[in-house]
Amino acid sequence: VQRLISYSEKMSIAGKLATGIAHEIRNPLTSLKGFLQLLQSGVKEKDVYFDIMVEEIKKMEAITSELLYISKPISNNIQKEESIITMLLEVIELLRPEAKLKNIIIELDTEKAENIHIKGNKSEIKQVFINIIKNAIEAMDNQGTIHIIVSVICDEVRIDVIDEGIGIDDDQIQRLEEAFFTTKENGTGLGLVICKEIITRHQGTITYFQNKDKGSTFRIILPLLKR
Ligand code: ADP
Ligand code: MG
Repeated sequence: VQRLISYSEKMSIAGKLATGIAHEIRNPLTSLKGFLQLLQSGVKEKDVYFDIMVEEIKKMEAITSELLYISKPISNNIQKEESIITMLLEVIELLRPEAKLKNIIIELDTEKAENIHIKGNKSEIKQVFINIIKNAIEAMDNQGTIHIIVSVICDEVRIDVIDEGIGIDDDQIQRLEEAFFTTKENGTGLGLVICKEIITRHQGTITYFQNKDKGSTFRIILPLLKR
C-alpha cells in the first residue's frame, strides 16, 4: 500500500508540474535557438552570447536534476528507523564549506531531543534538510548564525531552522510552495515543492514564518517512531 500511495502521489505532482516544466524548459531553449542563429549569422560579441547560453543550459540542467529526483524509482523508497540527529549532522557537515565561504555558523541544539528516531527514507529526509538549510544560507549576507533546534513535543519531533536572512514578505509567503517560484538568479523554485511532497509522504508538516527580529524560520514536524 505504501508503494502505491507513493507512486500515485509522485505521478500527481509530475502532472501538476507538467505545464510549468514545459515552459521552464522551452524558454531557455527558445533563447538558445535565437543565440545560435545570431552566431550563425556571424555576429561579433560572441563571448557575451556564449556566457548567456551557458547560463541557460545550467538552468535547464538544474531543473532536470530536480525533476529526476522527484521521479526516482520507488524501490529506493524503503522506510527505515533513522536518527534525526545523525541525519542533521551529516547534512550540516555537507553544507559547512558553503556556509564557511559566507562566514556563516550552523549551530545544532539538541538539548530537548536526544536519541530520537523516525521512520522514513534517509536520503529523502536528508534532501529536505539540505534544501531548507541551503535556502537559509542563501538568504543570508556574509556572517551570521543559523540555529537548528530539535525538540520533542508529545509524539512528534520538531526541527526549526532559524536564519538571520532577508526574511519573507507577505506577498512572497503566499507563493513559496508554487513550483518554479524563485527570487534567485540561479534558483529552480522546486526545492520547497519537493520538501513539501517528501514531508507530506512522511505524515509530517512544513511551515514557515518571519522571525520577530531578523530572518525566517522553517519548521518541520514529523511523527516519532513508536516503540
Ligand atoms: P529556490 O531555492 O530554487 O529559489 P525554493 O523552492 O527552495 O527554490 O525556494 C523558493 C523561494 O522561497 C526562494 O527563491 C526564496 O525567495 C524563498 N525562500 C526560501 N527559503 C527562504 C529563507 N530561508 N529566507 C528567505 N526566503 C526564502
Ligand atoms: Mg532552494
